[in-house]
Amino acid sequence: MTSTQFNPFRIAQHQFDTAAELLDLPQSIREILRVPQRELSVNFPVKMDDGSTKVYAGYRVQHNLARGPAKGGIRYHHAVDLDEVRALAMWMTWKCALVNIPYGGAKGGVVVDPRTRSLSELERLTRRFATEISILLGPEKDIPAPDMNTNPQVMAWIMDTISMHRGYTVPAVITGKPVNVGGSLGRVEATGRGVSLMVREIAKQAGLSLDKLQVIVQGFGNVGGTAAMLLEQMGCRVVGVADTNGGYYRRNGLDIQALNDHAARHPYRSLEGYTADGVECPSNAELLEMPCDVLIPAALDGQITSLNANRIHARFIVEGANGPTTPEADDILNDRGIVVVPDILANAGGVIASYFEWVQGLQEFFWDETDVNQKLERIIVGAFEQIYQSAQEKKQSLRTAAYQLAVRRVADATITRGIYP
Ligand code: NAD
Repeated sequence: MTSTQFNPFRIAQHQFDTAAELLDLPQSIREILRVPQRELSVNFPVKMDDGSTKVYAGYRVQHNLARGPAKGGIRYHHAVDLDEVRALAMWMTWKCALVNIPYGGAKGGVVVDPRTRSLSELERLTRRFATEISILLGPEKDIPAPDMNTNPQVMAWIMDTISMHRGYTVPAVITGKPVNVGGSLGRVEATGRGVSLMVREIAKQAGLSLDKLQVIVQGFGNVGGTAAMLLEQMGCRVVGVADTNGGYYRRNGLDIQALNDHAARHPYRSLEGYTADGVECPSNAELLEMPCDVLIPAALDGQITSLNANRIHARFIVEGANGPTTPEADDILNDRGIVVVPDILANAGGVIASYFEWVQGLQEFFWDETDVNQKLERIIVGAFEQIYQSAQEKKQSLRTAAYQLAVRRVADATITRGIYP
């Protein structure tokens, strides 16, 4: 596979094949797990504010349901396609298994650049998409959540749409909702919190103190923005951040609160126009290659490839995004001794807190934020310790160790359940 043929689903299958080989999985199980169980493609019309009608394409893919209902976010992006959604769904299966929560993996996407649409257009698009995929959704079937360019408001519209169809309120059909309609305290920050905990744990293993760590974060949205903020609070020096508009770098450390305030005042948390003393503006690609201890890709997939892996200067990469590193880049980073905390572990904080939200919704009994954060930390740090120890013992990368544990769990569940009929 070369970077010029970048296809996230081929990458996801390659990662699975590698794990299946190491685990010596039976051929029948490999055939089941290397493809999604269900795929729904929809084309649906939406009325625009000017009275015209536009047709949008969307997808919901359920990769595997062996360990429980399908779980995974919905992405709004102009370049999302079926193969990307398939890959993201497969990664969700491994992620849920890795942190041992009772879900299978799913993902959804709509081909739209939401920044070009008004709020009312987005609401109509969301409600119609939710209706189109509603045959798959339900608290016991498939529970979406936010992903790139979707947020608690979009989740509220989906929850309301499904509830209107059913004739009663169904909070547990979706997670990442606003707290005033059954969302969980701590969910918004959960993915970034998990990422920051993974930085803390990998630094601890390397005997490094957090106040010496220089961090660069690509993506300043829900995941990247929160991770940057929490890492600054933990004493790290966040020297670089980037969003779609480009990078911002300051050798002595950026003021993350000031960046957050700027983002909060602009649609889609844009950093465009941010200036401060000593801040340079490298391109997105240049920022990834600037000196730092920890690089956190927290935007799109396919950012670290064979084309730039040799020029990455970080000691550690903690993958906030899903699929930011290609397998070729992984090999190069491994050879160079750069430790990668893989996406299925590093960004699992979001789905862990989503699981808590689902449980709270089903029980109609809500926890306080400390409770959510403590339980999240126990699960994600526990998974890290297990994977780190296994990687040390077998002299493997953290990704290989994580895949082995996750794929084993899903394969075991599939074998235990047997093949119907
Ligand atoms: P978001 O929409 O809140 O933010 C995305 C950020 O990435 C924005 O700052 C955007 O400007 C930036 N960005 C987009 N394209 C970019 C590019 N080419 N270069 C640099 N920056 C770019 O999205 P999010 O929820 O923070 O998701 C980010 C990543 O984290 C995705 O890969 C997503 O799948 C993954 N993830 C999200 C969650 C979650 O709970 N939201 C959970 C697990 C994983």
